[in-house]
Parts: sequence; structure tokens; C-alpha cells
Amino acid sequence: MTEPLIREICVKSILSKSNLPVGEYSVNPYVGCTHACQYCYASFMKRFTGHPEPWGTFIDVKYWKEIKNPEKYAGKELFIGSVTDPYNPQEEQYRRTRALLEQLKGSGAKITIATKSDLVLRDLDLIRAFPDALVSWSVNTLDEAFCRDMDRAASISRRLAAMKAFYHAGVRTTCFISPIFPGITEVKAIIQQVKQQCHFIWLENLNLRGGYKTVIMDYIQEKYPRLLPLYHEIYHQKNRSYWNALDADLKAFAAETGLDYAVNDDLSSLRDFNAPPLIVNYFYHEQIRKSAKIQK
Ligand code: SF4
Repeated sequence: MTEPLIREICVKSILSKSNLPVGEYSVNPYVGCTHACQYCYASFMKRFTGHPEPWGTFIDVKYWKEIKNPEKYAGKELFIGSVTDPYNPQEEQYRRTRALLEQLKGSGAKITIATKSDLVLRDLDLIRAFPDALVSWSVNTLDEAFCRDMDRAASISRRLAAMKAFYHAGVRTTCFISPIFPGITEVKAIIQQVKQQCHFIWLENLNLRGGYKTVIMDYIQEKYPRLLPLYHEIYHQKNRSYWNALDADLKAFAAETGLDYAVNDDLSSLRDFNAPPLIVNYFYHEQIRKSAKIQK
């Protein structure tokens, strides 16, 4: 792989008001993401970046004026990493996510960090000083070969080891099983693997939109041709029966395993730290949110 293009840029503000279900503010210390996931849901951002290069091959490192009065974010939910990975490999050198955490330290802000990296271990002490901090790792397979086909982030074993270290250090952790690839993602096996080291298990279906629909369909055709009829049914015929059946199956599995199962649960309700993980189904959550808005 060729080296990514790295640019340093100045921005007015690092916090943006957000309508994400998981935070009132979204915070992205970088533009672009060199983890280059094949299915990147954030690749739509490319058109706002001025970069002609393909998504995944560039990254802009953001510099901002030090956050004034960080106390005004006390009790607010900040989601770090909505359209980038705040612990991409460049963070090791540029430390902009670390700078952000240092500026917010002691503010009382409630942070959620989403990553596919174990570089976050470097900042464990800083992160655990935040009230109710939550760190989420995306893990959508236990098969390292499939993982390598899909992204350039840390291996699954490194992500799971980082999750375990945070869990045992007293930080709330999430295993984000996303995106679930029909017929490939071993959801139950992942739940079994992580249920002793996380507080939440979030489930999200694979959506195929834009340019990466062709990329993923071509990949399935090449590597998993037996699944092509299923993918055709889901992504061309828009048939949701696979997801409905998976939802019912996982609900029954959760009951057998002694885990709670919720659909689009309100994440702000805090669970007992020592409780078994809560499984939250976010299938088609964007559309559910949109239709809920329309009904208002
Ligand atoms: S880690 Fe997230 S933002 Fe980065 S390429 Fe993957 S999906 Fe996109």
C-alpha cells in the first residue's frame, strides 16, 4: 500500500452539534480515515474535503484553538469518531485525539469513543478520568482473513485485547458488531467471545449505498459466491426477511444466554457496571429515526 497523503489544517471549532443517537456533539480530530474500510459509511464526506484522492488514501490532521470553558460541556454527550477513526495510525504521531482529551479533562463531559484500534490503550488513564466514559470497538468477524479483506485497522485479536483491558480498568466498553455481513458475520460467536468484557453489544446491519455497493457485491461474488442469491435478495430486491429472522433468532439466543435484548434502546440509561452486557439492535436505525421524525 502506498503511504497516505497527510495534510495539516486549521479549523475554527472541533465540536459540532449532532443529531446522532449517541451524542449531542460529534467530534472528529481528523478528516478522512486511513483504515480504509471497504464499506466505509463515512465515505460520503469525501465531497466536502476538496480531496480528489480516493477515500481511505488521505487524512487531514485538524488543529483548533484550545477549547474555551470546557466546563460548559459538563454532562453533555460527546461522540468522538463519527466520521473518522480517532485512533487511526496517524494519531500515534500527531496526537490530536489526545490533545482533545487533555483539553476536555475535568470538564465533566460524557465521552464516547468509537474505534477499530488498540492505540486507544495509550490514553486509558486519561479516558478513565471522564465520568461514564464509553469506548466502543467495531468487531464484525472473528475471522482475521475476512477482517484484512475489509479494512486496514488493527487485527480483531488486538481490538478484543484492548476492549478487555478497558473493561478491567473500570471503563464502560461496547462491542459494536457492525456492519453485520449476511451469512458471514458470526454474531452469536462474537457475543459469546465478548460477553465477559463489555457492557453493551450493539448490532447494526450492513447497508449498501453509493459506490461501495458494487465493491461489496463484487467481493461477495469472488469470495462467497454461494451467498450471492442472498445478497441479491437483500440489496437488490430490498427484502428484509433475513434481518427480521436474525432479530428473532438473536432475541431467543439472548434469552437463552441470560442477556437483555433491546431495540434502539436509550443509551443514556446507565447499566450496573457489573451487569451482563445489554444487546441493542440498531438494524435500519437511520430509517427508524427518520420515520419517527416524520410522525412528530
Ligand atoms: S474506521 Fe470508520 S471512518 Fe474509518 S474507514 Fe472504517 S468505517 Fe470509515
